[in-house]
Amino acid sequence: MLNIVLFGPPGAGKGTQSQKLIDKYNLIHLSTGDLLRSEIAAGTVLGLEAKKLMDAGLLVPDEVVIGMIESKVKTHRHAAGFIFDGFPRTVPQAQGLDKLLHENGTEISCMIALRVDDEELTKRLLLRGKTSGRPDDQNEALIRKRVQEYNTKTTPVADYYAGQGKYCAVDGIGDIEEIFKSLCQHIDALKEKQEEKK
Ligand code: AMP
Repeated sequence: MLNIVLFGPPGAGKGTQSQKLIDKYNLIHLSTGDLLRSEIAAGTVLGLEAKKLMDAGLLVPDEVVIGMIESKVKTHRHAAGFIFDGFPRTVPQAQGLDKLLHENGTEISCMIALRVDDEELTKRLLLRGKTSGRPDDQNEALIRKRVQEYNTKTTPVADYYAGQGKYCAVDGIGDIEEIFKSLCQHIDALKEKQEEKK
């Protein structure tokens, strides 16, 4: 399986690039943010609890997101692979994901980070907020809180995968197609290595 963690702060372009990658490589897109928003829209207890944290720019508890991902991975166990978008966001989530994939006979192939600076992120998110309808994109203080959560709790996840020799990064500023091309170069190299191992 080809299992990619697409990494980067809120507004880095993970959602946009994930859509393009799933089309090209026939992967399943798993975005914990999207899954949580579906729970909110469905008015579930999980959704209502998560909404309070999301509206404050804080992370939802690890067990909640790991549980959601686990059920999706099990549903799609015969897929060509997954793109994890917005997950894992903490080291315990990354450990939980490793365990879950191992139990299902697979593993993370690579984490690819999209590098974008904080000022550009705030600009992009405020712009996205005008059309996305996401309350967490419409308030600058909340955006800064989300970026701060990312900087403190999520950046260590990159070290976690670097420690496994599975980390690489591309420049996330510039033309969408150019960024996509860089991502594809990394993924194609990865696929070639996987083929050689067979
Ligand atoms: P996103 O759509 O990825 O920007 O996520 C929106 C919000 O959902 C985040 O600000 C968090 O409150 C919550 N969330 C999404 N994914 C996770 C995760 N993996 N761990 C904890 N909270 C998450």
